[in-house]
Amino acid sequence: MIGVADIEAAQARIASTIHRTRTEHSESLSTTAGVPVHLKLEHQQRTGSFKIRGATNAILNLSDDQRAKGVVGVSTGNHGRGLAFAARQNDVRCIVAMSQLVPQNKIDGIRAQGAEVRIIGQSQDDAQIEVDRLVAEDGMTMIPPFDHPDIIAGQGTLGLELIEDVPDLSTVLVQLSGGGLVSGVAAALKARSPDIRVIGVSMERGAAMYACQKAGKPIMVPELSTLADSLGGGIGLDNAYTFQMTRDLVDDIVLVSEVEIAAAIRHAYWHEHQIIEGSGSVGIAALLAGKVRPDGETALLLSGGNIDMALHHRIVSGEDVDVTAGENNA
Ligand SMILES: *Cc1c(COP(=O)(O)O)cnc(C)c1O
Repeated sequence: MIGVADIEAAQARIASTIHRTRTEHSESLSTTAGVPVHLKLEHQQRTGSFKIRGATNAILNLSDDQRAKGVVGVSTGNHGRGLAFAARQNDVRCIVAMSQLVPQNKIDGIRAQGAEVRIIGQSQDDAQIEVDRLVAEDGMTMIPPFDHPDIIAGQGTLGLELIEDVPDLSTVLVQLSGGGLVSGVAAALKARSPDIRVIGVSMERGAAMYACQKAGKPIMVPELSTLADSLGGGIGLDNAYTFQMTRDLVDDIVLVSEVEIAAAIRHAYWHEHQIIEGSGSVGIAALLAGKVRPDGETALLLSGGNIDMALHHRIVSGEDVDVTAGENNA
């Protein structure tokens, strides 16, 4: 598995490409939670999310031959954007395949970073078939969004920064989808301070890692539309790293509803002056809804800010936005 030495190496490797984002104390959330609450402003990262950390680390670890043939990825958006940016920085060809469920603003974001975009099918799995073809026929290297040592180590650099900013950290809330973020962050934090409690936060609609941990193994979990669209998708039946790291390092997993996610986006805007996407807001959602009992210095990540601004406007204006309309309200 990935350890703190790998994460420190990633930190040195990616330092000149990424922003070292700030951590801010939140007055309003500290009052609500009854403990000091700190926000890591990672939505202000280049490309709008932390995904650039792992992607840059992976690109910089390619051999000369791999660099020459280029990279491919499947993405709900932010990984594609981070990968495209990292590839262009290093003059590497990049193709990103994604499903029709991905919102237009995310597709535009990836094209703007200079990558080729291919839209294939109704799910991440359909897009994966195109990626497998590019790997087999053109010799391109697939860079997955979470289940890869370089990705996990890159995302883990967030944990090193966080504990530098808040040395007495006691509870940390981390977004949880495929688990690359929480695996890296928890590995970094627990190496520095073993008693830190790491709590994963997912949305109720399609919480794949949560379902897999309950089942005791990777299983198929249906993908549903949600305001936290960057947290959608499965963990892979052949998961090699993040299932086990999540099991070993994450103390608890909590789930938040669509209404709670919308409330958190609203709170971030009106009380913290931050524009964040649904996935970026689930830590705030969990605190506001009282789903975690924070203990001591508490931190959460604002992991991304790539939201359609018309949607954001409707949410912060108080409109009752339902992105799940027309689907099973499972
Ligand atoms: C990808 C992503 C996550 C979840 O990261 P995983 O490594 O898949 O668990 C959280 N927030 C945002 C904004 C993301 O883009």
